[in-house]
Amino acid sequence: MILTTHILSGAALGANIPNPYAVAGLSIVLHFLQDTLPHGDYLNKKSRLREFWKVAVDLAIGLSLVTAIVFYKNWLSDEVFLTNISTGIFFSLFPDFTTFLYRYLNMKFLRPIKDFHEGLHCYENGSRRREFRIENGFWDIFITLASLLFLLFLCAG
Ligand SMILES: [Zn+2]
Repeated sequence: MILTTHILSGAALGANIPNPYAVAGLSIVLHFLQDTLPHGDYLNKKSRLREFWKVAVDLAIGLSLVTAIVFYKNWLSDEVFLTNISTGIFFSLFPDFTTFLYRYLNMKFLRPIKDFHEGLHCYENGSRRREFRIENGFWDIFITLASLLFLLFLCAG
């Protein structure tokens, strides 16, 4: 899934759970659960490092949305809340970061995690159903919107 989806759902999870260790663990579980849903990815196993501008754009969009919400909702003064949101974001991105380290920095010891992570996807890496197109994006859009609505309107913080 795109990083924006993971960032927003991780932030929503962090905003909802007081214990930061629980946030960290559950954010990783949430990432893996989300990856079991059908979705397209803009990078695949053949992607080159020069395609990583897409990752930068994706990270910038997700992090800007959360930052805008933090300002809009006046959460800056609440340190615990901010810590939990940041923890949720960090650990929601962590599984994809390990794939990056494995593929591009050659950290071969991460292979079991990479294989587990890749195995959760319902369509094969590089297949048509994993192409980055709108008809493969239902769950990304749904989870992103649901997390945005939750952060904006339902979250007590
Ligand atoms: Zn993933």
